Amino acid sequence: MTKFKGVRIVKEPAYAASYSEFDETELMDGDVTVRVSHSTVNYKDGLAITGKSPVVRRFPMIPGVDFAGVVEASSNADFKPGDAVVLNGWGLGETHLGAYAQKARVKGAWLVPLPEKFTPAQAMAIGTAGYTAQLAVLALEKHGLTPERGPVLVTGAAGGVGSVAVTLLAKLGWHVIASTGRPEEADFLKNLGAAEVIDRAELSGPGRPLGKERWAAAVDSVGSHTLANVLAQTKYEGAVAACGLAQGMDLPTTVAPFILRGVALLGIDSVMQPRDKRLIAWNRLARDLDVEKLAALSTTIGYDQVIETAGKILEGKVRGRIVVEIP
Ligand code: NDP
Repeated sequence: MTKFKGVRIVKEPAYAASYSEFDETELMDGDVTVRVSHSTVNYKDGLAITGKSPVVRRFPMIPGVDFAGVVEASSNADFKPGDAVVLNGWGLGETHLGAYAQKARVKGAWLVPLPEKFTPAQAMAIGTAGYTAQLAVLALEKHGLTPERGPVLVTGAAGGVGSVAVTLLAKLGWHVIASTGRPEEADFLKNLGAAEVIDRAELSGPGRPLGKERWAAAVDSVGSHTLANVLAQTKYEGAVAACGLAQGMDLPTTVAPFILRGVALLGIDSVMQPRDKRLIAWNRLARDLDVEKLAALSTTIGYDQVIETAGKILEGKVRGRIVVEIP
């Protein structure tokens, strides 16, 4: 097929996303062409489709930062037709035509082989959010933190990054405290392995520079006052892996947690991670992520539900992870 289905974002006459058709000649440069079978909806995809933040920097754009699929054509020595592959980030859906389409043409250097343990749908149930949760866990471990040091807090726990982080950390033996604004999801979070569930309102308002030491480590996908309070309540020489901004991009903190308690703030970026670190993260996901728990935290939608789901994720109405089936 030279024509294929894809979501198209245009900027003129007004920013809009629609279900559309593309021709292969519109695909951008790359040495591997992939028949996409599955994608997912991350928070960033919500921002791109709605235009709420300037995520998209090329028009027209096909949004979607993650895909799983099968190589259709390749001039890259590492990939041949029929290979099952996964792509997370690298500017897909931002600067390079992305995942919500039947075809993608990308640089082979951006692809990783689909891990044997996962189906393409499971790889997308993980997606950027899950792989970012894994990067956060690796960062805490690199800092020398272990479950013996005390509890770990996960904020935005019922969201994508949060739900995978809860699952991974519980499997590794951590006492996981899940912070959520959705008390009705307490059983969901406990089923994933959370030992305690707290109300995110405890952390979301302006706080003091230091508070009672409550957790040795944290994975924060929320930012703003929440991250400031998380730092202020981290135990001596603990660390916080910061990966998101669901509450806000600001960080109204003081240096107190850093200079009085030796707390470390570990930044997590998934988009431009070098390939060797991606492979490490995917290998750890294959080792540690329970596929039954993955099924419990993910929901499948059709390609024609992507645009409405983008609005829902920004409203905090999506639980766990979403898998998109591309026809
Ligand atoms: P989700 O929308 O699935 O999860 C975000 C969660 O944050 C929500 O489910 C909600 O959890 C909580 N939340 C939402 N709004 C607020 C608010 N105003 N105050 C406090 N908590 C709030 O998104 P993702 O998991 O896909 O992404 C989470 C964040 O991580 C995003 O900011 C995203 O941009 C970022 N991210 C960063 C990456 C990186 O490379 N650094 C990669 C992937 C994601 P609950 O209902 O439980 O309270």
